[in-house]
Amino acid sequence: MTTNQRRPNIIMILTDDHAAQAISAYGSVVNRTPRIDEIAAEGWRLDNCFATNSLCSPSRASILTGTYSHINGVTTLVTPIDASQPTFITQLREAGYRTAMIGKWHMGDGAGHDPQGFDYWDVLIEQGEYFDPMFLSRDGLRQVPGYTTDLITDLALDWVDGLDGDDPWCVLIYHKSPHRPWQPHPRHEGMYRDPIPLPETFDDDYRTRSASARRAAMRMVENLNVEDLKQTPPDGLDYEELALWKYQRFMEDYLACVASVDENVGRVIDFLRERGDFADTLLMYASDQGFFLGEHGWFDKRFMYEESLRMPLVLSYPRRMSGGQVFDGIVTNVDLAQTVLDAAGVPHHPRMQGSSFFPELLGTDGSPRPGMYYRYWEHDDVFHKAPAHYGYRTATHKIIYFYNDGMGLPGCGPFTYPPEWELYDLTADPQELRNVYDDPAYAEIREELKAQMWRAQQAVADSPHPSQPKPTHV
Ligand code: CA
Repeated sequence: MTTNQRRPNIIMILTDDHAAQAISAYGSVVNRTPRIDEIAAEGWRLDNCFATNSLCSPSRASILTGTYSHINGVTTLVTPIDASQPTFITQLREAGYRTAMIGKWHMGDGAGHDPQGFDYWDVLIEQGEYFDPMFLSRDGLRQVPGYTTDLITDLALDWVDGLDGDDPWCVLIYHKSPHRPWQPHPRHEGMYRDPIPLPETFDDDYRTRSASARRAAMRMVENLNVEDLKQTPPDGLDYEELALWKYQRFMEDYLACVASVDENVGRVIDFLRERGDFADTLLMYASDQGFFLGEHGWFDKRFMYEESLRMPLVLSYPRRMSGGQVFDGIVTNVDLAQTVLDAAGVPHHPRMQGSSFFPELLGTDGSPRPGMYYRYWEHDDVFHKAPAHYGYRTATHKIIYFYNDGMGLPGCGPFTYPPEWELYDLTADPQELRNVYDDPAYAEIREELKAQMWRAQQAVADSPHPSQPKPTHV
């Protein structure tokens, strides 16, 4: 960056559980998101951005601190953040940025857990509400009438509007939507009444999958509560009919919540354009993780499978990047902090564990990542009984080790199960329907992936579960 170059303003819009499959820039067949698409058209769409622990609080902590869950301590939904940790926000603020956090924090409340390092923060309590939410700020707790997605945007834009002077600013606009319990604004009710297309894997029978995956209680037909759908199914539906009924009701609400997000993304874009700040702002849109929207018959996230693992991420910064570009290199939520700091010309904190992909976005050589390490720490949780696992994903393959042990962490249930492996060939089987771990044709790649995973785990200062033998190729 040259010394006379203006430092960018930074906006990170983060939603909760918004799957890439429900963004038209990513090829959605179920909805349109013209304003999110506009960011991609003005900049980049990242096709292989992954969460390193596909769960709300852990992903938020990784994004903010640029570290993996075992380093920042937010391993599960009930391990609150020590908010005094260095973050990309504390680094920006030291460098003269004005900083704000608005919306869903969801990494714990109370002394030590409330936001730190921000000039201004105004956040929902825990999961927050869709209507007339409670907000907590330094001034205390208050209820604000209105729809939460609109209110969060209002508060963020008001804060920017109230700033004087030329110093750059960074605001985090963190939405609750489209997280459960999926309550759309009335203006979007009924947007999605027609039969919504079913994913191809809706009837997955999990034939070659591990018992660990089959045990998870996240099947839409069996585990999605009717109360969450606010309607009662008609009498006499058989199993398949009930599955279709739940899918349709769920998607209607989920996509209507997404519509409010898309509108509010548009408000941010319009605001920046009207101020003449659009070209000089790094504007990002992402979700804390992916989500199953009926793929494999599931809803929710947690697993290292593609729909849950992949984070949508689009960003623009017209002053320094041209539009309509697609980046397919592997990046993770841990890389975001350093990428933002790099864009601002601010050094990252030495504790951060990712690497900036900003050079690649400028068209210069970066550091290609051969793969990404994943670890889902929560185990046998009360809602979904999802199994603890870790794994490694390259551009072509994915290996997963279900070690099935909560290791005494909060948020984990008491049951342990025998360890199991899965291996997927993402080129031949992008939908991950054939676990080829025991296929002799994959014996060599299997052992090589185990070694790569082992090395990646050591590189980020994590440790294998005691049940895992040391790979032979290491
Ligand atoms: Ca989430």
